[in-house]
Amino acid sequence: MLTVDEALRAVMERVSPLPARRVPLARALGLVLAEEIRADLDLPPFDKALVDGYAVRSEDLIGPGPHRLTIGEEILAGRTPTFPVFHGQAAVIMTGAPIPEGADAVVMVEETRRENGEVIVERSVSPGQFRLERGREMKAGDVLLRPGAILSPARLGLLASVGCVSPLVVRRPIMSIVPTGDELVAPDKRPGPGQIRNSNAAMLCALALESGVEATEHPIAPDDPDPLRRILDGASDSDILLITGGVSAGNRDLVPEVLESLGVVRVFHKVRVRPGKPIWFGVSPPRPDGASGLVFGLPGNPVSGAVGFHLFVRPALARLAGRDAVALKPVRGPLRAGFVHRGERPTYHPAVRDEDGAIETLAWAGSSDLRTVADAEGFAIFPAGDRQYVAGESIEFLPITPPGNWF
Ligand code: AMP
Ligand code: MG
Repeated sequence: MLTVDEALRAVMERVSPLPARRVPLARALGLVLAEEIRADLDLPPFDKALVDGYAVRSEDLIGPGPHRLTIGEEILAGRTPTFPVFHGQAAVIMTGAPIPEGADAVVMVEETRRENGEVIVERSVSPGQFRLERGREMKAGDVLLRPGAILSPARLGLLASVGCVSPLVVRRPIMSIVPTGDELVAPDKRPGPGQIRNSNAAMLCALALESGVEATEHPIAPDDPDPLRRILDGASDSDILLITGGVSAGNRDLVPEVLESLGVVRVFHKVRVRPGKPIWFGVSPPRPDGASGLVFGLPGNPVSGAVGFHLFVRPALARLAGRDAVALKPVRGPLRAGFVHRGERPTYHPAVRDEDGAIETLAWAGSSDLRTVADAEGFAIFPAGDRQYVAGESIEFLPITPPGNWF
């Protein structure tokens, strides 16, 4: 059985970034840029006023004043000046408007008063005051973003400011989720005898969304080879197919054999981890575009599925999307209270951290107990082997907070 690290390596060896394509800005949030972006114009494109007031020649306003200037034209944002400002003159100017020739500074309207058609300024004005020079933010041809940049809101605005309305980006992964199990009913139904609600699909769709991917949720597949094969076949054109349930050792755990009958090549089945041991991973046959889909069979128990997602699916999605730092990184901290670990597999135990970084394990009923995970901030990691941990001992903690700056 592979260790978590070995299994992660086996997954990542089979993942490469998806091809690039152009998408409209409104669809590009969180995607990875696949081209260099340069400024097409100087920005600002002209010397512009930073406040509402008067465009002046600073040499006319040396010393405390009062200085009297005659008032010329009014320049609104979006207009261009028609006259220069000569000695002894001021032009009325609004924020964002071009500063006329001759003027080299702007006086705030709040620091002026008007008298007999003149403007009076009772202070000195320094050259360049409240003026943003042409090209101060960027010059035409400047490199603004390089391939690999993650498109944040500010970067999308930057692209718009240089006229790039459909950037070339690594394509967003396409994911399908197929829940399996004869016992499952939709969450809006009341389970009958022996039935439970399908909670995995909702959780996995949300985990996918946190990773920037809108997953398609397929109908619940029964534990019956023919319909299961049809449903899995119908979902096989995704970049990542997540199946939940049907991968353990039960009589009706048919997912591995059905996947293999569809030509999906198994890479591993079972990982030394608790919860989540029965996880299955394989690669589907290449599609016409040459790419192969990744197929994960996650165990049906919700916490097993969550652990499998965080450890293996999330990094795979990140690499498909062209990101560099992919695997979740555990942090270290002291245990708040003693803990007894038993078992031959490392355990991912739901836990929270207090303000001082101390790790508190939560009372947890095992792999089906999603309620505890709903209160958790991550998982305390206990290595394989029976051992009594004492309060204060340093252990690893895997935070499961949303991946930063995805969107
Ligand atoms: P399996 O991996 O199919 O053996 O399922 C393991 C356990 O997880 C069983 O108790 C299932 O009822 C439960 N389970 C399977 N699929 C789901 C699901 N989609 N939502 C919630 N529980 C599930
Ligand atoms: Mg099942």
